[in-house]
Amino acid sequence: MSQVLPDDASPVHDLIGIGFGPSNVAMAIALSEHNARVGGQEAITAHFFEQQPCFGWHRGMLIDDATMQVSFLKDLVTLRNPTSEFSFLCYLKSKDRLIDFINHKNLFPLRVEFHDYFEWAAAKVDGMVSYGHEVVGVAPVVRDGAVEHLEVTVRSGEGLAVHRARNLVIGTGLRPLMPEGVERGDRVWHNSELLAKVDELEDASPSRFIVVGAGQSAAENVAYLHRRFPRAEVCAVFSRYGYSPADDSSFANRIFDPAAVDEYYAAPDDVKRRLMDYHGNTNYSVVDIDLIDDLYRQMYQEKVLGTERLRFVNVSRLTGVKETPDKVSATVKSLVTGEESSLDADVVVFATGYSPADPIGLLGEVADRCLRDEEGRVHVERDYRIATDPGLRCGIYLQGGTEHTHGITSSLLSNTAIRVGEILDSLLDRGVKSASDEARPVADGIASTAR
Ligand SMILES: Cc1cc2nc3c(=O)[nH]c(=O)nc-3n(C[C@H](O)[C@H](O)[C@H](O)COP(=O)(O)OP(=O)(O)OC[C@H]3O[C@@H](n4cnc5c(N)ncnc54)[C@H](O)[C@@H]3O)c2cc1C
Repeated sequence: MSQVLPDDASPVHDLIGIGFGPSNVAMAIALSEHNARVGGQEAITAHFFEQQPCFGWHRGMLIDDATMQVSFLKDLVTLRNPTSEFSFLCYLKSKDRLIDFINHKNLFPLRVEFHDYFEWAAAKVDGMVSYGHEVVGVAPVVRDGAVEHLEVTVRSGEGLAVHRARNLVIGTGLRPLMPEGVERGDRVWHNSELLAKVDELEDASPSRFIVVGAGQSAAENVAYLHRRFPRAEVCAVFSRYGYSPADDSSFANRIFDPAAVDEYYAAPDDVKRRLMDYHGNTNYSVVDIDLIDDLYRQMYQEKVLGTERLRFVNVSRLTGVKETPDKVSATVKSLVTGEESSLDADVVVFATGYSPADPIGLLGEVADRCLRDEEGRVHVERDYRIATDPGLRCGIYLQGGTEHTHGITSSLLSNTAIRVGEILDSLLDRGVKSASDEARPVADGIASTAR
């Protein structure tokens, strides 16, 4: 694979963004609004790299009736700039659906609709991103004993290219989590690939699915597979007694407020832990109460009619899974009796959650300059910038992977608009441009060497 090295004439971007999910789309919007305001030499030059061939937000889970778990007012911009032309309301207006949405009296749009909104917003800042470009490494460029800028290696269909930046913003999102020792296969899926895989089964007339897990994604998978395959049995296996409802009550919802980030950040570690214990049920391993009620109603109706297809195998764990060309054999252990039983299925879906992508896994030797706490977690300043040794003059900002410092909104949409505003302020406060750049024309910085 050919590698293009930057020459000294190639621009040093003020900021390179890794990933172009909602977090970095919001960042690009904040930058473009800033640049439109200040113009000329004060404009911040930035470029983003996204590995997917086009914009995509959890496409495998765009189930047609699934709704957002966050108010549409927590879109990419409104909390930071309620007059922004990138808001969900402006999107609705452009689609001629504003009045219909208002009549719907609903804060929580369909997930497919919010995906369309994200795509619409991302298309408006298309010039700032290269799709089909995966960042594969970061290296320091040292001058006079200090790291002056970073070289970012990007892989695309054209080979490898190196781009230079004074600051990075890493928004690489979540990774699907499988139980230890379980490999994905044709019949063993993670829920993140549900819609991509399910079409292949259409002609196979599946007779049984097993869905492992008790969170929102698990419940959505159970409901979807039950509806989509009217002749198949769907067995939900989980260690709880039953699904637990998400706490979306008004007081608890304040844990997602911008002010909660300040308080969480300032709190001692034991208080941080306690807050997560108290309010983890606003987000983790919980299900919307309406969906719980629907599933129960369905199960009961089938019981009455003698047509049972929905089975809930509770207080149980799936302890083994063996895939063969025409089925999967699962072993299910009762946590009450310890008894193991086997259950064959056409497919097992693991709705076993996600973990944040390792934020500094891409940083190579630059990672050695990032400070860590006693538990080995990366030390992040309030402005989302990784604390580094003083020899690193570049800023490395995190969007995601900061739950231990900034709280539960780290990987969620709730605070995205505010967070990108804070990162922008930090870039400006810390002097995003070096003195030698002041005469540099803006257009140079925006151009990417590989698009
Ligand atoms: C099914 C589902 C539904 C959800 N619904 C909600 C909700 O309703 N409300 C809410 O607040 N949160 C929700 N979430 C949480 C979710 O984390 C956020 O919605 C959102 O995706 C966070 O955006 P992000 O840009 O930080 O990460 P992501 O959306 O994961 O985007 C990261 C991007 O980085 C790209 N990338 C990764 N590595 C590289 C690399 N090396 N080079 C280039 N590109 C790279 C990826 O391809 C991806 O496009 C949901 C999560 C899931 C899985």
